[in-house]
Amino acid sequence: MMQAGETSGPDWRLYARSSSDDKAGVMAILAGYEALVQSKQRPGVNIKFFFEGEEEKGSPHLSEIVEGNRALLASDLWIICDGPVHQSGQKQVVFGARGDVNVGLTVYGPKRPLHSGHYGNWAPNPALALAQLLASMKDSTGRVTIEGFYDDVIPLTAKEQQALSRVPNLDAAIQKELSFARADGGGQNLSELINQPSLNINGMRSANVGAQAANVIPTTAEATLDLRLVLGNDWERQVAKVVSHIRRQGFFVTTQEPTDAERARYPRIVRLTPHTGYNAERTSMDLPLAQEVVVAVQRTSTQPVVQVPTSGGSLPLHVFKKINATTLTVPVANYDNNQHAENENIRLGNLWDGMETMAAIMQLK
Ligand SMILES: [Zn+2]
Repeated sequence: MMQAGETSGPDWRLYARSSSDDKAGVMAILAGYEALVQSKQRPGVNIKFFFEGEEEKGSPHLSEIVEGNRALLASDLWIICDGPVHQSGQKQVVFGARGDVNVGLTVYGPKRPLHSGHYGNWAPNPALALAQLLASMKDSTGRVTIEGFYDDVIPLTAKEQQALSRVPNLDAAIQKELSFARADGGGQNLSELINQPSLNINGMRSANVGAQAANVIPTTAEATLDLRLVLGNDWERQVAKVVSHIRRQGFFVTTQEPTDAERARYPRIVRLTPHTGYNAERTSMDLPLAQEVVVAVQRTSTQPVVQVPTSGGSLPLHVFKKINATTLTVPVANYDNNQHAENENIRLGNLWDGMETMAAIMQLK
């Protein structure tokens, strides 16, 4: 919003779809490079630009492009410019990203919708069965109760733990801003919890509610689960643990629409919609070149640069791993950028800082 006499400042924001995720990154890289050229400063290293436009739809061609251009893409380090800086506004160097896989679940009730008065108390309700199944997956603190869910995790190194302990803790302020009374995690903070695998319910659906509600026993209930993975987890193994858990709750698990014979035989049925996923990757904090990047970013800021072993979000870093590339993520966007939602925005101060950060990295010796 503009007020009389006001000119643009660092707290102004540009509102547009993908303004922060990920046009801001692209512009910070290009403008940072242009600033070096304009001021006749030579980059200290050879630079290759690589921009991918399909990340939001799962990067269907990234692997093919990367693997088909091994020689052209040979490098010492990839700098990825995606995601937000720390909530404190401090610049951040992120050494890895979580893996990700989604799982679709459909639970079945009677074959056609039934009058809830005539058949309630007798016909099984799939919404209730799904709710019970989902409730069995976590305890009251949000810890996943699926057997072996945390077993494969490779623990953080001493250096990574030390870096985590220096991450500013803004949990109380963020919680206040988001208006909820108690956080999950049994007392662990947000940065610690991001370094663990997670199980989220992205959404659930069964018949209609509110003004559209009818007095029926629905025929199906659906949910989509989102599993985030950390180093050591394998996405297929993680899904298999969920499937075993569902079986242990007494469900027959199928990947097809159940047949009449199956419906007649099994009291509880789940149809699983398989998705492909990918694993987490993490670059070592001991890598000298990575620490040089931290020093370069630090030169552009009076505030300490936050170093984190992984971002909470996911990136298909495994694709770069296939050509033995080492990756570091240096984000520029403000944390409250509303990415993937309405009113997405980039704070101008973050965009300017991002240009400076990228230029500093390009001047590595
Ligand atoms: Zn995104």
